[in-house]
Amino acid sequence: TYAVRLESVGKVYGSGRTAVHALNDVTMALPRGSFTAVMGPSGSGKSTFLHCASGLDRSTSGRVWLGETELSRLKEEELTVLRRERVGFVFQAYNLLDALTAEQNVSLPFRLADRPVPIERVRAALKAVGLADQYDRHPAQLSGGQRQRIAIARALIHEPDAVFADEPTGALDSRTGRQILELLRRLVDDLGQTVLMVTHDPVAASYADKVVFLADGRLAGELRAPSPERVA
Ligand code: ADP
Ligand code: ADP
Repeated sequence: TYAVRLESVGKVYGSGRTAVHALNDVTMALPRGSFTAVMGPSGSGKSTFLHCASGLDRSTSGRVWLGETELSRLKEEELTVLRRERVGFVFQAYNLLDALTAEQNVSLPFRLADRPVPIERVRAALKAVGLADQYDRHPAQLSGGQRQRIAIARALIHEPDAVFADEPTGALDSRTGRQILELLRRLVDDLGQTVLMVTHDPVAASYADKVVFLADGRLAGELRAPSPERVA
């Protein structure tokens, strides 16, 4: 069973003479409990791929499924709910609110959905990412690695079908980056989460089960990454 599936997905920005074919005929399936890295040169369509696969944006052709849900069939409001409740996002720039504590940042998906905040679950999520003693800290009081851990806890809070990470280690030094990658790896190995990560960094990609390469918006190859243990 697959967490995410794309069938002949295309994405065109604009139209006519200025149209940009950012994705062409991309077919891929992410099994539940897998960790996939997407690599490719700048402009090859990595972000577009991540956005189309996660429901942040709509493809212009082909079909995308999240679990059993085909995204093109959803109304705009339904897609918004899906983004909030069924996928988790982790970005390079953390996307945390500085005015809120760690706990409040992780609670945000519930506040946005106008739902009661399950505080024990929020704390369990922060504990799971190694921030058990930091509930009341603000992002500005924490290191980059700790901020990214808050973002990961927030991404996990709804037990999403898949977690989408766009250069999650791009703003971190290499040691802290490795700790974040180990955390993502554990989400897959211990919690059975499904992770799709866009990265420029071959070391980051080596934490994935599979690396797919994009070139000019097309799948240009894939390989199984050796595990970090085997590299070491
Ligand atoms: P990558 O993440 O690999 O750098 P992108 O998915 O950002 O690649 O971009 C793929 C192509 O689509 C590039 O040619 C880029 O300029 C173009 N593109 C991306 N977003 C837009 C947009 N909103 N409008 C027009 N063109 C875009
Ligand atoms: P890029 O990869 O192009 O540098 P990002 O991945 O940071 O940019 O963001 C891509 C798009 O996703 C932006 O339009 C941004 O507004 C939107 N976005 C960022 N964070 C979230 C979020 N948590 N939920 C929904 N949309 C988001």
